[in-house]
Parts: sequence; structure tokens; C-alpha cells
Amino acid sequence: MKSIRRFFPRRYVLPLAMLSVTSFVALLVLLWYLTAIQNRQDVERDRIAIASALDGILDFAVHDLQDYSIWDDAARHLLGGFDRQWADDNISVYLGARQGYQHVFVVEDDRKTIYSYENGQSADVPLDAVTAIGPAILYGITDANRPGIRGQEAIGGFSHSTAGIFAYAASALTALTPSPDLSPGPPRTLIIAMLLDEQALAQMASRYRLGTLRIVGPEGVLDTEEAVVLTSRDGTSVGQLAWMPERPGTVLLYRILPGLFIIGAIATTAAATVLNRARRADEELTSSRVNIQHLAYHDALTGLANRRRFQDVLREGGAGPNMQILYMDLDGFKEANDVYGHAMGDALLIEAARRIGAAASEDALVARTGGDEFAILMPGREGEPRRTCDGVLRAFDPAFEVRGYSVNIGVTVGAASGAEGLEGEELMRRADVAMYAAKSRGKRGWLAYNTELDAANQVRHVMEGALREALDNDLVRVVFQPIVSAGTGRIEMVEALARWNHPQLGEVPPDQFIRVAEQSGLINALGRRVLAHACAAAKAWPIRISVNLSPVEFWDRDLVGSIHRVLDQAGFPSSRLDLEITERHLLRRPDEAAAILSEFRMRGIRISLDDFGTGYSSIGYLQRLSIDRIKMDRSFVQAAERGGKGLRMAAAVVKLGQALDLPVTAEGVETPAQAALMREIGCSHLQGWLFGHGMCAEEITAALERQNGEVPRR
Ligand code: C2E
Ligand code: CA
Ligand code: CA
Repeated sequence: MKSIRRFFPRRYVLPLAMLSVTSFVALLVLLWYLTAIQNRQDVERDRIAIASALDGILDFAVHDLQDYSIWDDAARHLLGGFDRQWADDNISVYLGARQGYQHVFVVEDDRKTIYSYENGQSADVPLDAVTAIGPAILYGITDANRPGIRGQEAIGGFSHSTAGIFAYAASALTALTPSPDLSPGPPRTLIIAMLLDEQALAQMASRYRLGTLRIVGPEGVLDTEEAVVLTSRDGTSVGQLAWMPERPGTVLLYRILPGLFIIGAIATTAAATVLNRARRADEELTSSRVNIQHLAYHDALTGLANRRRFQDVLREGGAGPNMQILYMDLDGFKEANDVYGHAMGDALLIEAARRIGAAASEDALVARTGGDEFAILMPGREGEPRRTCDGVLRAFDPAFEVRGYSVNIGVTVGAASGAEGLEGEELMRRADVAMYAAKSRGKRGWLAYNTELDAANQVRHVMEGALREALDNDLVRVVFQPIVSAGTGRIEMVEALARWNHPQLGEVPPDQFIRVAEQSGLINALGRRVLAHACAAAKAWPIRISVNLSPVEFWDRDLVGSIHRVLDQAGFPSSRLDLEITERHLLRRPDEAAAILSEFRMRGIRISLDDFGTGYSSIGYLQRLSIDRIKMDRSFVQAAERGGKGLRMAAAVVKLGQALDLPVTAEGVETPAQAALMREIGCSHLQGWLFGHGMCAEEITAALERQNGEVPRR
């Protein structure tokens, strides 16, 4: 049954099975009914034939009898007196021997047998000894029919004895022409009886085209036989005449049945074929429906659920206290996608999806909700969301080995837990806020939502809008911090630093608004604006300028071109420009970084490695990349001042630079002691509050004038 269901869809099998079973059953019932009718009709015909045969026998008997009972000679010899010899010679010989009646009787007064003839000779057997016609029946007959018999009518009927069933006829002995010389005497009846033996039945059967007939008792009829009850004239049964009906309907049925089964088999095969086709059509339909449904609810690339499905499930399941959402954004994906191309990007997404899926619990719904955004919807449990967040972060530790490349892709996770009455949308928003907060805290980490984040997020949003406005209105200023020669103390360079004073927010720290600019895509505009201001201000200065490049800017495809456009517009020689880049971002994709850097170098732009020592400084890469200067991070200066290991490390950084032929600038020099230390360990340049904070262009101009004793001409 199972296999049938598997092969044929139930909704086809059931109606079709019902249809074929009912039609087959109906056909059988109809056939059976027709057969029964046919059989019954045949039996009825037999019955009628037998009835008329029996009637015929009685009619013959009556007819035979009347020839003798209503006869003047017979009346003369047999009424009044009784001439036995005459009766033998003139009646019994004919009726007995010739016509085959076994018995001839003459009964007086309806009860006294005065003459008996049996099988060809006179006998002393009384009527009631031979047949159950008996006087009682005869009385009945004679009583009931006395006028009839007296009226010269003969009667016929059936009776039985131990020998079998008899057909008999009885008639009053009467003269045909009444005459006065006849002695009246008591009434006498002439009776003849014929045993319905085998021979008589065979004769009857052949005359009426019946099957074999046999006489049976009340219990003797076989199941397969039909019978007619023979009744005496008073209506009591004297026996049954049974025969085997031909049952032509059944015969016909047996002839038809094999054909019927063949037709049934053909019909079944046809039905199975139809079913099979229907099944295939059904399967195709189902699979296409499943496909469409799958497409509608799944991300074609990764096979994960898509945003729509994620939202649907969230909406259906609700954002109750037992639900948790993790929102994930890949770090470094966009850059990789830009640099390696979309095929690589796809491969990275597939691998990222695999890693996230593996880190999620069995009952979690993992979805790709956007370009490089993923989400997990899972039941809240003890230890969550920490366990899954840690799992996801760990899953991204190993580099992605894809298409022969080894790429570092990170992930930042925001988590939010459901609460009573919380909408799914709100839960998603919270996870999103947490994720952004985690990003702004340095990526590759996770953070659970709390209401303070909302505030921070609010601030970020406000800040983003304000920064956009500030850039539109050119309200971001640039200050310049001197970089002095360690040997002479003269300003040899200035670092351009962005400043933003917002009317409500006040002086926003660059770290903060630079991050907002990076996150909102404003960083390129900001970077070019700072460069343009710096070029404009420093055009006449006899020194180099150093401008910071954010890693987000660095991987921008139009970076080199856009910087050149700014330089051209300002008429600032590229040979006087330094770009500061942090090593962390260069090392992530050294080949591409090297290509970009050499392009800068070709155009005469120099590169400073900013915040050196805080990343994963690798001598190998330093050698390969076209770097012009190392800016040792402020933390080394502070550490060096404490002596010992800190000093040795700072000295090692400087030695490394010297080994690579790179001048080293010490950042964050605040005291003369620090300056002395840095000079001592071999730094070529010093930068820090000791030599000046970020200053406006006029201040730098003034400082340069003081330093050179000459006024640079515009
Ligand atoms: P940075 O590139 O390391 O810039 C030097 C930072 O150190 C500046 O902070 C500067 O004011 C500070 N500083 C200089 N001397 C001293 C000192 O003696 N002691 C101490 N404690 N700090 C000192 P600022 O201006 O707040 O800038 C912070 C960071 O913002 C910069 O760090 C740089 O990464 C980024 N930034 C600033 N302006 C820009 C810009 O125009 N574009 C980009 N992409 N990033 C910028
Ligand atoms: Ca810098
Ligand atoms: Ca720095």
C-alpha cells in the first residue's frame, strides 16, 4: 500500500480506485442481476411447461376415462348389477393394457371398492389400499363435485401411495342416453390411476423439452434443483416434481466472465497508466512549485533562507522572550569583492554562509539578509547568545582559502533578545543597532543590545546627518601639526588633521567622526576635502605635507585618480605629499596594497606607515611594500620613557626602520625628555605637543617664517 501511495498520489488513487471498484462492482451486480433474471425466466418457463404437462396428463386421463364412463353399454353392464367380466374385457383391457393406466377401480357410493383391476388383471385391492386417493379424497372430490360427476363430468387429480405419485381421473358411470330400463341402484364411479414413473416423466420431459424430471419428497429437492409441488385436489401436497434447470443466464455469465476479466485487466492497466502520467505531471508540478517556493524564500547563492523568509518566520513566530536574533556583517568583504572580483566574492559568501550555518544550533534559522549580511533566529537558551556569537567569531578566525587565495574575512555580530510584546521588526532593529555598535567598537566582535546602544546609535545617526551637512557646507576644517627634524628641531613636515566643530555637538573628536564617515560612505568626500584644504594652505610652504588615508579610502578603486584630481586642481606638486596609512590594512591584502602603493610612488607621492608597531608588523611585507617613512606609535614613546623593555622595544622599531633604510618619526612626543630619548635611539623626526598641537594654516605660516627668517612668497 505504501509503495502504491509512493507511486501514485493518494488524491488520484482514491477516487480512481473508488470509480473502478464501484463500476466493476456495479457491472458484476448488473450481470448477476441479469443472470438471475434470465435464470428465473427460464425456471418460470420450465414451471409453466411442467404445469401444462401435468395438466395435459390429467386432461388425457379425464378424456380417456370419459370415453368409458359415459357409455350406454357400460351403464347397462355395470350399474344396478355388475358384470365383472364385461368390465375386464371392455374397459380395463383398453384403459389398463393399452393406455397404460396401472389401476382401474369402480367405487360404489363413493366409499366401497367393488371392482379393482391392476396391471392387466382383476385384483382384490381396494382403492384406498392402493392410493391415497382414498375414499377421503374421493369424498372430497365427489362431495365437492358430486353434481359434476353426477352431471357426467370427470375430474382429474394427483395422489400418492408407497409406489409413488399417481395421476388419476374419476367419473360417474352414466349412460349417454338415459333409458327407463336401467336400474337406478347406488351411484358408481369409475376411476383410473397412472403412476408417474420414470417412463411417464421421461415422456413428459421429451414432449415439453424439459430436463430430467424426478419425483421427490418434501425434503428431497437439491439446492441446484427447482421443483413444483404436486397438490391433491384438496390442496395438500402429495410430493414434488424436481428438475435441474438449465440456468442459461449462468451459462452465459460463465462464457462472459473471462472476457470481462480481460476487459477489467485492460481497464486497470489503462487506469494505472493514466495514474502514472498524473503522478509524473503531479511531481513536475510539485517540484516546480517547490522550486518556485524555494526561490522565493531562499538565497540562490548560499542556499540559506532569504530576508523575506526570515521576516516571515519572525512575524509568525513572534519576538517573544524565548527568541533571539543575531545580526552579522562581514568585515573586509566589500574590499575583497572589489579587489578580487565578483566570482571570488560569491565564493567567499558561500564559505561565510557555511561557517555561520555550522556555528548555529540545529533549530536555528540562518538567513542571508543582504549583500554581506547574515542573520540567525534562534530560541533563547541558557548561555546564549554568547555561545553562538563566540562560535560564529571563532568560525571566522581561520583565513578563507578560496580560489587559491588566502583571504581574511571577519564578522561582527549584534545580538538582541525578544521580550513580551516586542514586534519582530523591532527585534531586528535592535540586533542591527547592536551590530553597528559592535562595529564601531572595533569589528570582529559581538555585542548584545541594550537601550544605551540605541542612544549611541541615535547619536551616530544624528552625527552622520550633521557630518553630511558639514561636508556640503565645507565646515570641516584642517589643522596642521608640525613634524620636526630630530637633529635640527626645524619643521620639515606638517600632518594635516581634520577638525569638525558642530554648533550643537561641539568639537567632535576626529576618531569619532572619521568612523562615522567610514560607516556612512562619507569618508572619501571627507578625505578629498581635507587634502584640498591642506594643498591650498600648504602650497606656498617650503615643506612637505602629510595627509591621513583611512583604510576604507585606501581600498577605494578611484583612490589614486581622485587624489590626483585634487592635486591638479590645487596645483600642488605630488612630490611634496605624504600619505599616512596604517600597516594593518596593508597587510591584509599585501599584493593589492603593493600595487596601489607603487602607483603612488610612480606619481611621486610618498607613503608613511602610521601608528607603526600597533599592528602585526611584518618585516617581510615592509620590505616588499614601497614605504618611505615609519611613524612609530605614541605608545612606544610613552613606554620608552619608563625605560627597560619599553625602551628596548622603541629602539628595536627604530633599528628596524634603519635596517630598511626608512626614517622613523616618533609620534606623541610631549616632553623634552621624551624628545631626548627619541633622538638618542635614532628617530629622524619628532612629532607631538612638545612641538605644537594641530594649528591653523596662519599659525604654521608664522612658525615657518620664524624658523627661516624669510617670508615665503605666494
Ligand atoms: P593619527 O594619524 O595618529 O594622528 C595623530 C593624532 O595624535 C592626532 O589626533 C593628534 O592630535 C594626536 N597627537 C599629536 N601629538 C600628540 C601628543 O603629543 N600627545 C597626544 N596624546 N596626542 C598627540 P587627532 O587629531 O585627534 O586625530 C586622531 C586620528 O584621527 C588620527 O590619528 C587619524 O588617524 C585620524 N584623522 C585625523 N584627521 C584625519 C583625516 O583627515 N583623514 C583621516 N583619514 N583620518 C584622520
Ligand atoms: Ca596620522
Ligand atoms: Ca599616528
